[in-house]
Amino acid sequence: MTTKDENPTIAASSQRPERTTYNVPKPVPAYYPHSGSPIYADKELYTRIAKAPKKLVKTHSCAPRSGIAVTIPAKSVFRITTPEGPQVCDLNIWNLHNPRERFWAARTRQLHSAHVSTFDRLWSNLPYLRPLVTITADSMEARHDEWGGRVHDTLGTRCDPYVDKLISGIDNDLHCHSNLTRSVMPYGLTEFDVHDVLNVFQVTGLNEHDQYFMEACPATSSDYFECFCEQDLLVAISACPGGDLSQWGWGENEENTEESKMIDCCRPLAIEVYQLQDEENVLKCWNPPQYIDYKGNHGLRGPQ
Ligand SMILES: [Zn+2]
Repeated sequence: MTTKDENPTIAASSQRPERTTYNVPKPVPAYYPHSGSPIYADKELYTRIAKAPKKLVKTHSCAPRSGIAVTIPAKSVFRITTPEGPQVCDLNIWNLHNPRERFWAARTRQLHSAHVSTFDRLWSNLPYLRPLVTITADSMEARHDEWGGRVHDTLGTRCDPYVDKLISGIDNDLHCHSNLTRSVMPYGLTEFDVHDVLNVFQVTGLNEHDQYFMEACPATSSDYFECFCEQDLLVAISACPGGDLSQWGWGENEENTEESKMIDCCRPLAIEVYQLQDEENVLKCWNPPQYIDYKGNHGLRGPQ
């Protein structure tokens, strides 16, 4: 294992830490909606969904260092929880009936922000570009700390055995990519269907060198991240084998004493699925999300 402290190239970056004044105007956010655009959720509707009485239909447990995949019908609400305290969660979402439509972390980052919270939506990839879920509640409430760390991150992606070997030279099977891969195999999906994640309960940011950093997960046993399903979904989560990220490192192996420290901070996750009790009334202003009706063909024209 290479630890953070031993790594002599920890600060290697092409980016200057200091800023230069070029007297350019302050930029505005690049993506903003025209009026009536579905980019932003109707706060009244989604507050009503969040507050409405619900029946707990099922609780799916995810053991430490493992992954699960579950199907959840449209119009349900699900909560991802940390029932035994801090643990980061790598989340993948697909349209249940068409797994080519899946979560697009990069576009979600542009449409909303690099970290997401209540009323943000998790968008699908091209050529679909519609919400898979809308976030209805977040017990961590857009946390923002003194290092610039924020929670529920679309900046990074899952840990995987390829980058681990690249960094450590060791074959290691304990990663979110592998957990997600095993969890979706019963649904006919493969490693190629696993995609860039939302890191739920994970506090991350960019440092003065523009480098991605991760902090220890502050979630408690009462924290949750709640979403309304805009479509019938396949939802997969991985309880990251890095646990709460207080002891993470690359190149885990059996003999390494550092490993036990990382195992000690690994905890379970759960997905609670709820059904709205008065669905018809609560959802009377809700419409299933539609594909974007772009009618061009990327400029190609067929026979006249
Ligand atoms: Zn992971």
